[in-house]
Amino acid sequence: MKKILFIYLLSIFLLIGCSDIVFNPQEIPSGSQSNYNMKLSMDTNGLFSAEISIDILNVSNEKWDELKLYFIPNMFTSENSPQLNTPSEIGIESVKIDNQDASYLLEKDIINIPLRTLVSPNESVKFQMKYNFTLPIDGFRFEKIDSNYHLAQWYPMVPTYQKGWNKQDYSFKGESYHTAFSNFNVTFDIPKEYTLVTTSDEDKFPSVNNKSFRIENVKEIFVAILKDPQVIEKKSNNVNIRVFGKGRSEEFLEEVAETAVESFNYFQSIIGPYPHKQLDIILDGPGMEYPGVVTAGSIYGRSVTNEALKNIVIHEIAHQWFYGIISNDPYTDAWLDEGIAEIATYLFKYPNEKELRYIDFSDKMEPLPSNLPLHDYLKSIQSNYIYGQSYSNLAKIFNQHGGKQTAEDFLSRYFTLYKYKEVDTNEFVRFMKFYLELEDDSLFEGWLELETKNK
Ligand SMILES: [Zn+2]
Repeated sequence: MKKILFIYLLSIFLLIGCSDIVFNPQEIPSGSQSNYNMKLSMDTNGLFSAEISIDILNVSNEKWDELKLYFIPNMFTSENSPQLNTPSEIGIESVKIDNQDASYLLEKDIINIPLRTLVSPNESVKFQMKYNFTLPIDGFRFEKIDSNYHLAQWYPMVPTYQKGWNKQDYSFKGESYHTAFSNFNVTFDIPKEYTLVTTSDEDKFPSVNNKSFRIENVKEIFVAILKDPQVIEKKSNNVNIRVFGKGRSEEFLEEVAETAVESFNYFQSIIGPYPHKQLDIILDGPGMEYPGVVTAGSIYGRSVTNEALKNIVIHEIAHQWFYGIISNDPYTDAWLDEGIAEIATYLFKYPNEKELRYIDFSDKMEPLPSNLPLHDYLKSIQSNYIYGQSYSNLAKIFNQHGGKQTAEDFLSRYFTLYKYKEVDTNEFVRFMKFYLELEDDSLFEGWLELETKNK
């Protein structure tokens, strides 16, 4: 009897003493799991050919009678982007399912493939596609910039399967695509006069352009093919940080590299370890994050000052944790990775302040939540809610609960609990209420739309 009482008391003690036992993170299931095998080759005229094979495992609890894959390059053809002087040209040679020719319908950025055989839960299906393409000039992330090629979302990508295929209409602002953590084998054959910079953490400079790499647990693969770049490499603990520029002063590249290393070190120390051996920063193209690579040259094509460029670099590096390791759907919950990347950026930039700085613009803005789907915002004001409003409200909450120190501790705990998981608005709020011991939703009212239990 005494022994039972002892175990009972011990378990109570453990429950009180170890809060992680009480709080169980509830990830949003991805519904699909993908292993990609990809071959990419390029000729000296900038014509690419690709061969993609994807083993897609059904980890949902529904049977699949069709596949829907993103094919974003198709948004930049003359048909879908008539405003472009140099659109993308795309030729699809074959689409197969399990080695058999398959019928498909390509519409905007989506490939629909009806399945002749249903794919049950825990079964997988192989999707194969061969195609060739050129890059548009003035595309968006998928584009030729002077003599450089930026290949973002250049291959058919498997959406998550959450109440059906989670495939939204494409948006030229923000990210309308959402993929699960996946494994990739990639083989390249690129003309040797170029420098290859990719999601792989094994890229070298000068680069080897006919090679293969494997990487696991990343959301996508970015590839840049650069002509005669300036390069600076720095070591940060065991991680190699490389900065690629063109037409910039050596001093500025050096300053960017120093900012990158300092912010990277800070993020590793307060959030958690970066999972790769290399991080590449390309000072060209729109400010954007990809696994293992960030681009920072402009904001939606607008050129920016050197100081602003350094801020973009810090923000995009913060995304390596909030996007790269903790996932959220950037179509429905863009504020989560953007608002938190902003919090991390400000914590780094103002190390000596006990509170987070913020400006409250709420009385000048139409009241709208920060977690609307992208297409529910006017493009001109979308960022005010996704970045500005979410940052200032998070900052306000942290300041009411201990300021900078609480924000840093929160990010560390958030990372530990949710790494390689997907979070949505409700789950984030559930965790924040637990962590800060909030009794109700009042701090989220007016800027987040929360799902109620009985909805
Ligand atoms: Zn961002």
